[in-house]
Amino acid sequence: MSDKSNLSVQALARKNVRELTPYQSARRLGGNGDVWLNANEYPLAPQFELTAQTFNRYPECQPKLVVERYAAYAGLDASQVIVSRGADEGIELLIRAFCEPGKDAILYCPPTYGMYSVSAETIGVEGRTVEANEDWSLNLPAIEAALDGVKLVYICSPNNPTGNLINPDDLRAVLEFTRGKAVVAIDEAYIEFCPQASVVGWLQEYPHLAVLRTLSKAFALAGLRCGFTLANSELIELLMKVIAPYPLATPVADIAAQALSDQGLAVMRERVAEISDTRAWLIEQLNQCDCVEQVFTSETNYVLARYTASSQVFKTLWDQGIILRDQNKQPGLSGCLRITVGTRAECQRVIDALRPLPGAGQTTVTTNNEFAPSKEPM
Ligand SMILES: *Cc1c(COP(=O)(O)O)cnc(C)c1O
Repeated sequence: MSDKSNLSVQALARKNVRELTPYQSARRLGGNGDVWLNANEYPLAPQFELTAQTFNRYPECQPKLVVERYAAYAGLDASQVIVSRGADEGIELLIRAFCEPGKDAILYCPPTYGMYSVSAETIGVEGRTVEANEDWSLNLPAIEAALDGVKLVYICSPNNPTGNLINPDDLRAVLEFTRGKAVVAIDEAYIEFCPQASVVGWLQEYPHLAVLRTLSKAFALAGLRCGFTLANSELIELLMKVIAPYPLATPVADIAAQALSDQGLAVMRERVAEISDTRAWLIEQLNQCDCVEQVFTSETNYVLARYTASSQVFKTLWDQGIILRDQNKQPGLSGCLRITVGTRAECQRVIDALRPLPGAGQTTVTTNNEFAPSKEPM
């Protein structure tokens, strides 16, 4: 293959695709660890057996049992639920249904989840940002002032990677000033860790509210690729127009239905209780480490903390096979690393690795290359 033919394919590609940086997922970033705490996954694999064996047939577009069970779980009617290839596909369906490429915009509030911007860029829709306040609350006046041309507002609550819930009064304020102007998508990927905070109960008041959910986090099924968008049926019907004809493979629907059975829900709730206990332990231990400057409270399965020398901390743990997520590049998060709450033993490994690291102003005797600048991707 000559350089020339490569160049011409580059030239043929859409400009926004040429310029696009793909989502830096934990899987793409790689690493050679044995303690994976960088993707907010559940640390242990749940066991399922396939029951559906009709692989000669196309699957249902919207598997009835999965939709009915999720609707029952969320306290909604089946007409208020659409199931998709992860919540990430839900994020994209909303843009495809509501935003005119090259004309409309989405709005989101960094520091937050990375896929809102990646999906918008891929589709050719402007991603407008209004940074959160210093305490991570929404900057309501700035959001209201930036709504011109905005068709879709994404708010993640509890927020990834900060771990905090957004004040419900602020969510209401956004829903009020966007009425008739924009759809508001509340990303509740972690809501099982704080179920009382869900805004699903507000759907009857707000025709422009959509709620994103997933089986990837508390349900321990990130590899299944199954998520949900919840909204009033009028909005769901619009999303049904732009979804792929067969978004969920037959085995995915089979396992999702099992995960949403009464027994599946009970197991999920036990998992949430266990992770929440481990999280409390991890926060307490982090607070006793010299290299940790500040530990943030969390309503989720991860803990964000600020370190005196975060890239050295990141690399030291990386070299010991403990893979964390660097959040240093996000606005307001300099020096911050995110740790997924794994098993108690995995969290112990993190603490054992952090304990010897020095704090600010403390000196350390470097006899080897331990504190050389890190080379791994951020
Ligand atoms: C993990 C995550 C998602 C994506 O969930 P999938 O169902 O795995 O696509 C969406 N939003 C947030 C905030 C997440 O952390």
